[in-house]
Amino acid sequence: MNTGDPVRVIASGSDHRASPRQASSEAISFRFYAELNDFLPPTRRGISFLYPFEMPAAVKDLIEAAGVPHTEVDLILANGESVGFDYLVRDGDRISVYPVFESLDITPILRVRPEPLRRNRFVLDTHLGRLAAYLRLLGFDSLYRNDYADEELADIAQCERRIVLTRDRGLLKRSQVTHGYCVRATNPRQQLAEVVRRFDLAGAAHPFTRCLRCNGMLRPVPKEAVDHLLPPGTAERYREYAQCESCDQVYWPGSHHRRLRRLVDGVLQGDPAPDEDLHPE
Ligand SMILES: [Zn+2]
Repeated sequence: MNTGDPVRVIASGSDHRASPRQASSEAISFRFYAELNDFLPPTRRGISFLYPFEMPAAVKDLIEAAGVPHTEVDLILANGESVGFDYLVRDGDRISVYPVFESLDITPILRVRPEPLRRNRFVLDTHLGRLAAYLRLLGFDSLYRNDYADEELADIAQCERRIVLTRDRGLLKRSQVTHGYCVRATNPRQQLAEVVRRFDLAGAAHPFTRCLRCNGMLRPVPKEAVDHLLPPGTAERYREYAQCESCDQVYWPGSHHRRLRRLVDGVLQGDPAPDEDLHPE
């Protein structure tokens, strides 16, 4: 009978350290990271604790028995090695469990994975318009309108599985918002650097592929197709053009482009963004 409430049964015995090997039970050492601790009783948060189990046991079942929904989990390490949900634990294993959007400590492992572990799609609150444009500049799908109500924003986050970026902690407490991040910086360039660090975005960026105005995708277009939309003198100076598939905005690598390029390179290399004022619009 595994379906009752194994958490409560196990949680009542806090002295497994003293007797980890009972007749029919082995034990692993569990450690949950970051917001996964919210699912644990206070005495188990932020520390390693012994957790008994009966063989055979898949790590997924033990994670959920400990109280953490598997949908919250992005990465599991068994004795330092990345394993899947079906990994059968062994007595004495050290199991580290990381949440879906945790970037700390796991960067080297994320990099060796063949597939990205998560989709980095965002919806930003009404105060973060510049940050939204900067994220689009790096190619990240970032919804933003200056008139989103909190309810609407939470609905979008839930329906489209987007990460909410906000400076309003109240918004993050809404029940529909399962993945969000409270941006600490107030300067938009610093906000961008913060979000790139937090979500380990540097390796996933595709700069200059997305419309800064509307979040649409850009496609290369021949000059003849857009020259009627260009300011006087532009067509003579530039050869390469791209156009937004959604709003028809035309982009070309003008002088503004070079400043944006410096911003992109700085942020992706982990440098603080240059201290010049950049208006992506
Ligand atoms: Zn557009």
